[in-house]
Amino acid sequence: DLPGPKARAVLETQAKFLSPSISTPMPLVWERAEDCRVYDVDGNDFIDFTSGVLVANTGHCHPKVVKAIQDQAGLLLNCYDSAHPLRSAFVERLAGLMPEDLDRVLLLSSGSEAIDAALKMARVSTGRDEIIGFDGAFHGRTYGAMSAGGLAGARQGFGPFLPGILRAPFPDYYRMQPGETPESVDAHCLAALEQLLLSQSNGDVAALITETYQGGGGSLVPSARFMRGVRDFCDRHGILLILDEVQASFGRTGRLFAFEHFDIVPDIVVVGKGIASGLPVAAVVARTPIMAGLKPGSLSSTFGGNPLACAAGLASIDVIVEDDLSGNAARIGTHMTGRLKALMERHRLVGDIRGMGLSLAIEFVIDKETKQPNPEVARGFVEHLLRSGLCVMAPIGRNGNVLRIAPPLTITRELADEGLDIIEASLQAF
Ligand code: PMP
Repeated sequence: DLPGPKARAVLETQAKFLSPSISTPMPLVWERAEDCRVYDVDGNDFIDFTSGVLVANTGHCHPKVVKAIQDQAGLLLNCYDSAHPLRSAFVERLAGLMPEDLDRVLLLSSGSEAIDAALKMARVSTGRDEIIGFDGAFHGRTYGAMSAGGLAGARQGFGPFLPGILRAPFPDYYRMQPGETPESVDAHCLAALEQLLLSQSNGDVAALITETYQGGGGSLVPSARFMRGVRDFCDRHGILLILDEVQASFGRTGRLFAFEHFDIVPDIVVVGKGIASGLPVAAVVARTPIMAGLKPGSLSSTFGGNPLACAAGLASIDVIVEDDLSGNAARIGTHMTGRLKALMERHRLVGDIRGMGLSLAIEFVIDKETKQPNPEVARGFVEHLLRSGLCVMAPIGRNGNVLRIAPPLTITRELADEGLDIIEASLQAF
């Protein structure tokens, strides 16, 4: 029975004192988690299909990560901008994982903060100020990140935003108009970029920013053709390409970085979430000339790259690489996609299944023909799953009707199947 007595007390206190801007959509009060299982304060346990919102790529509380944090915690927690061996080791490691000329790293504490830093860098290095962002993009909640983002719901009430942001459409192959094909959608979206330069730009575009796949916008995966087209557009116009891989990197999509699927190399990459298994760590990685104009002290922070963060990041990367968690994400992701697509054929409320690796999504509709979004069913389904022992995230997307499935990358096929069995039974019950 959820919430249990201890959980109820926590939720009551929270309701009195916590900012209502934090959404707690489910009657679940986490106490601890181990690998792919979550335990609540009343002793109930759940299979985790959230990775704690896409951070626990190595599984919750991986022993190697926990030990690295514990060992460092007794030595030094913070030394601000002073040099530290773990920080130099961490930036060297990160640069070493990237394509060759992405060789400079700025460490910060949140994805949003890192997005802002990437935008600032692009302006400084080009001397230009306009930024192109996509409809439905989510880049975080600082003003720069929100200004570049195009998810209307996330921006409501917070304007005015940064000037100089130009907005372009992003491909959505599920909601195509009659007669359209993925090829024509890509061509239309790429033509819209050119049109934007002609009709809305002052000729001062510094950068185009995009998630490699759109997460908050509803798990929209673009084609390689589109992403290569975007790279080509940037090259032809001398525009920097910033890829927001805050949720897509560190094995989540079946490759270490999601841009590897598309065979493109960005000018600036922003990473976060899964990079340190849950500690607040984010990074901007760029080519040396792009960071060269930054004055000392102009982009840094109190907590960015602190020794504890670096210890967690280094240990997490070791686990992801040594245990080939990207490979596991690709294999289990393919298996889960197959089962989910079979479910889609049988259930009238499931309009689409999509995703990459272990970042999968179910889009709920009222009717498969009209594709009318069904946020009510999506919300109810999440709670039904929780009561059946499976933890998934609150629905997302432009219409709030997309359920994300993102277990830790350590998950076994058996446990993935156990979670999918719960989804299948719950769909039947619905
Ligand atoms: N970019 C993307 C693609 C994200 O998904 C998020 C967080 N959901 C952010 C940026 C912001 O990261 P943070 O919450 O760490 O600020």
